[in-house]
Amino acid sequence: MALFNIFGRKQGGAEEQEGAAVAPEQVATPEQAQQKKQELGAGLAKTREGLFGKLARAVAGHSKVDEQVLDQLEEVLITSDVGVETTVKIIERIEKRVARDKYMGAAELQSILREEIAALLQDSEAADGAGVAAGVAGAGVTGGIAAGFAGDAASPANPAPAGGAPHVIMVVGVNGVGKTTTIGKIAAQLRTQGKRVYIGAADTFRAAAIDQLAVWAERAGAVLVRQQMGSDPASVAFDTLKSAVAGRADVVLIDTAGRLHNKIGLMNELTKIRNVMAKVIPAAPHEVMLVLDGSTGQNAFEQARQFTEATRVTSLVVTKLDGTAKGGVVIGISDRFHIPVRYIGIGEGIDQLQSFDRVQFVDALFGD
Ligand code: GDP
Ligand code: GDP
Ligand code: MG
Repeated sequence: MALFNIFGRKQGGAEEQEGAAVAPEQVATPEQAQQKKQELGAGLAKTREGLFGKLARAVAGHSKVDEQVLDQLEEVLITSDVGVETTVKIIERIEKRVARDKYMGAAELQSILREEIAALLQDSEAADGAGVAAGVAGAGVTGGIAAGFAGDAASPANPAPAGGAPHVIMVVGVNGVGKTTTIGKIAAQLRTQGKRVYIGAADTFRAAAIDQLAVWAERAGAVLVRQQMGSDPASVAFDTLKSAVAGRADVVLIDTAGRLHNKIGLMNELTKIRNVMAKVIPAAPHEVMLVLDGSTGQNAFEQARQFTEATRVTSLVVTKLDGTAKGGVVIGISDRFHIPVRYIGIGEGIDQLQSFDRVQFVDALFGD
């Protein structure tokens, strides 16, 4: 803790956290669920409008779903950033249905597409479970996500087991994708659930990055552990975990500097941060969360592919789905990577982060 005391400065909601007993898991009221649904619908408005407009053009002048309509549908999906492989899977499913049903009216295309996308995502969700378990075992992390949050692998919202070490999430990605913002939003959600949250400012590249994180920590009521600009990110992570253990934190979020998958030195730095954290909590980090900017469409997809090849990633976040028509990328990402999409960002506000639910996503995309 010497480093921490000399260079470090703790700030944020330490006092507020002292009195906050861990509240029982909050169950969303019907009103809250309805509000969440509306916000998701609003966040996906541009993607929905884009998709519907293209679908309408694809079926215009056709009374039934024929070869030509299917060709156009393929183009609609690809230009909606769903990705080629996932588009092919969706088209194959629809072709099978068309072959089964003798006559399929073009007006039904929208509801058929909705059903097939939902079914496809459910299939890949089932495959995910196996993928995550295998990935975690392969990486030698005992228990993986489930250890930190017994019973709920879908969100880091459950408290750590009594007497256990905090659940540590290291957040990675390229510059500007929304890592720091997402950390602030996750911290705020956890705080409303009564969790003790520590945030480590391991993006030490720029003073502004540390200050930005300090503002988020303050707003969320989380404890920030920081050192001077330019200090070793691994050292910040080490201090954060030490403080978090001493402070009986439930969750630790480690912010990191933006980096490209092909910068070998920087990717090695991630490994170093991971290794140093494991000195404090052997299973840490329990999660390596890759943040992707959804508004970059296929670029986000490429980043996910390259990052997951270059380093261990256990969960994904897709941000900035508001204000873009490229939201279809989430369908491709959750189909193609056997890594769960944990959250989606639908605005800059502290409450504009939602846990990702495939069924709700498809519902919001197609509307009621
Ligand atoms: P970092 O470099 O990865 O840490 O990215 P930041 O957290 O600093 O975010 C970069 C910019 O993206 C900021 O202006 C954020 O407000 C913005 N941002 C992050 N998430 C979202 C989102 O879900 N929607 C929108 N519209 N903007 C977002
Ligand atoms: P190295 O710096 O390449 O030799 O890698 P290490 O794994 O030894 O440590 C990486 C960084 O983490 C160090 O530069 C320290 O800042 C920090 N670190 C590692 N172990 C400790 C420790 O026991 N105490 C403190 N305060 N920091 C540590
Ligand atoms: Mg940042």
